[in-house]
Order: sequence, then structure tokens, then C-alpha cells
Amino acid sequence: MEADVLVVGAGILGLATAYHVLSRDPEANVLVVDRMGDVGQGATAKSAAGFRAGLFTSSTNRLLSDTSVDFYLHIQREEGYDLGMELVGYLILRTKEQFEEIADVAHALEKRGTLKIYRKAELKKMLEMNYEFDGDEEAEILGVKNVDYGLFGVKCGYIDADKLAYYYRDRIKEMGGNFQFNTKVERIIVEPEIKLGIPREPRAWQKVRFAGVETNKGTLKAEKLVIAAGGWTHLLLDPLGIDCISKPKKRQIFTFRPRTEAQKALLNTKGFNDEGILPFTFLPTGHYIRADRRDGTFWFGFSDEIRPFSPDEEPEENYYYDNIYPIMVKYFPQLEGARVDNMWAGLYMLNSVDHNPVVFRRSNMVVATGASGSGILKGDAIGRIAAALLYGETYADLYGGEKIPTNKLEVVGRSLETESFVF
Ligand SMILES: Cc1cc2nc3c(=O)[nH]c(=O)nc-3n(C[C@H](O)[C@H](O)[C@H](O)COP(=O)(O)OP(=O)(O)OC[C@H]3O[C@@H](n4cnc5c(N)ncnc54)[C@H](O)[C@@H]3O)c2cc1C
Repeated sequence: MEADVLVVGAGILGLATAYHVLSRDPEANVLVVDRMGDVGQGATAKSAAGFRAGLFTSSTNRLLSDTSVDFYLHIQREEGYDLGMELVGYLILRTKEQFEEIADVAHALEKRGTLKIYRKAELKKMLEMNYEFDGDEEAEILGVKNVDYGLFGVKCGYIDADKLAYYYRDRIKEMGGNFQFNTKVERIIVEPEIKLGIPREPRAWQKVRFAGVETNKGTLKAEKLVIAAGGWTHLLLDPLGIDCISKPKKRQIFTFRPRTEAQKALLNTKGFNDEGILPFTFLPTGHYIRADRRDGTFWFGFSDEIRPFSPDEEPEENYYYDNIYPIMVKYFPQLEGARVDNMWAGLYMLNSVDHNPVVFRRSNMVVATGASGSGILKGDAIGRIAAALLYGETYADLYGGEKIPTNKLEVVGRSLETESFVF
């Protein structure tokens, strides 16, 4: 049977798109295919699942994150479906110079009530860490910088990415959508819009449409296609000569269960949130530390630039000891001796042009990708844009009523503010 809409990829972007397609067109026959055995098993499952509403320097990213987080909060609070959201806040620690670069945005966000700016003196009373490294040769070699400011994002915290994926999966099923798992898409089928029955169609001068996909389980035909294959999207588009200006980079998370009283005290840092836990904290070096309240662990990560674009997803324990531990211990000496208890790796689909997501349409196919390390927290808005674009609309309605042009995230003629808060 031919699907009306075939979605490749059951990660957050594919799921949100399928959900919004069905919300607007309940009669549509929607099929979501994924090579894994269930939804959200790609980057979605591997993420740190932090969310930050409006805590971006690009106004587009602010809009996408604001409205998506509001939608998730609505699900949790009004629909009563537990998404495991905890508003523990984001704490972005900055040097004086780093703060000055984004001071205008920070002050504007503070006026809106989205952000609280802490000066060093206030931070020192709340957070036990090293703030000054002047004259510390080792710190200089490691690129460890002073902490002068803390930007505290209020409507920020973590969500349970699995629960979010299951929410969309269950709603999609309730609305009559179908899933086909363990199905790997090998290629997208290209056909002429008008078949002439001549050899070697489509010829270069013929208009084309995308008629479906070839998979390891046979051909799947479709009226419309959505490609939301995360860090593998370019592998399906490159053979067609379609550029999604995004490439995959491995990102890793290492967890550690606090052993000493000082480590436990750091995990249970009071004063920032009602939960009495360390907020999701970003160091001036870009390293982050996340305290997971549910399982009582720290999560450490770092998004370095010089690292190959590759779909490799193997975690490397050495990466932690070489690149994370020495820096973390400089800032938080109480973490001395922190060994890796668990680790995993996944892919950021990085759009290095401006670090905003990438959503565009070619013929009857829409591509949703380039979430650049923040696809969970913008997923719902991206899904709304992709669904509206699939139906030929010029504006998408985001949650809460704001509208966004559906060509805003298009590759060609793109003109978006560059995002500085990429972690
Ligand atoms: C370590 C790490 C930390 C992160 N932290 C955060 C965070 O704190 N907050 C946040 O918002 N985001 C975070 N992210 C980013 C976030 O996880 C991604 O932006 C988001 O999950 C992207 O969703 P997606 O649907 O595009 O991709 P994915 O979730 O990867 O989904 C793509 C799906 O396509 C399927 N697929 C691919 N190719 C094929 C094929 N050929 N045939 C069939 N199926 C195919 C895959 O199996 C996969 O299920 C993090 C990512 C990583 C790796």
C-alpha cells in the first residue's frame, strides 16, 4: 500500500513531524520507518535531554525553544502525561570577556524574566568551586578561565527524552499512524513527475518527484516523504545532490556517582532551584556538568570543534580522562578521583553555518535536520514547520499561537543570526 506520508526516522524530529501531520490531516495514511527496534533510539536516546526555553543568542532558536518547551510543559502539566521534566535551571558560567560578547542579549533576556545574571560575589555564596586562576600555569595550559558571571536560565532543566518519544509514538498510533521498525532505508526513489515511458527516465530536463524508498525489506511507496534521519540524513540526500548543510559529529556523556561528602554536597547544591540540586552547569571552557536527581549521578560532557565529521558512535573512555576530567577538577576540586561509572556517545547533526535547524522542501519531500545539539528542546517547533511545509503552507503555527515562515530554515538564501550558545 502507498502511504500518504512516509517519514524516515523515528527520532524526535520525525516523530514531531508525523504527529503534526496527523493533527492537521487526521485522514492521512502516515507511516514512520526506522532501522532501530523502537522510537527515539538514535541521538534522541543518547542526549543529555536538557531544555532551555529562550536561552539562545539567535532569535529564531529562542522562538523554536520557547514554544517547544511550552508545549512539553503543557503535556506534563495540563495533559497530565509525565515527561520527567524538572526545572532545575541552566547555569552558564562566563568570563568577563565572554559575558561582554553577549551582554546585550543577556540584559534583554533578564528584562523578559527568562534569565538571571549572577555576579561572581553572589555566585561564590551559592556554588562551591574555584573562580580565579590568575598565575596558575597549569590552568593556563588547559585553557581554564576565570568565572566572573553566571547566567541562570529560569525555564530550563531536563526532560526524559524516552518519555517524550513515547508520548509522540502513542499519540501517532492513537491517530491511526503506523510504524515499521528494523527497516533500513537504502535509498530514495526518484521518478519523473510525468512519466513518458522513455529509457533512462528521469532525464535531466524532467521535473522529478520522490516516489518512496528502497529498504532492506523492500520498496515503500509514498505520496509525500519526510527525511528526518538525524546524523545519517546526508547519506540519503548526498546521492540525490541535495545539500542539507549538516554533518554528524560524535558527542559523549560520562557519568559518575558521587562518593565523598563534598561530591554529594556539590550534587545537592542549594539555592538555585526548588529541587535543591546543581543546575545544568556550563563552564567557560564549554564543558558541562549535569546533576541527575533521579539516579543521583553527575553527567559530564564537552563539545569540541576539532573532531572528525563521522557517524562513529563509539564512546572512548580516554576522552574523559584526557579532555574532561583535568578541566572539571580545576573548577571543582571536590571531584578529585571521579572515575567513569558509565558512558555513551551519539551524534550531533551540526549545521556549522549558523547552528539553527535546517528544514526545507524539494518537490514532494521535506527534510528536517541540523538540530545541532539541541533537537529535543526545539523538536516540537521543528515538527510543526516540517508538517506545514509538507502541506505547502507559507507559515507554521507554533505552540501558543506564534507564527514562523516555513522557509525560515531553508538552505537556499538562508539568513539567520549565528547561535553562540552551542554546547
Ligand atoms: C551526547 C548528546 C547530548 C545531547 N544533549 C542534548 C540536550 O541536552 N538537549 C537537546 O535538546 N538536544 C541534545 N542533543 C541533541 C539531540 O539529541 C538531537 O538534536 C536530536 O535527538 C535529533 O533528533 P533527530 O530526530 O534529528 O535524530 P535521531 O534521534 O538520531 O533520529 C534519527 C532516526 O533516524 C533513523 N535512521 C537514520 N538513518 C536511517 C535509515 N537509513 N533508515 C532507517 N532509519 C534511519 C535512526 O535510527 C534514528 O532513530 C544531544 C545529542 C547528543 C549526542
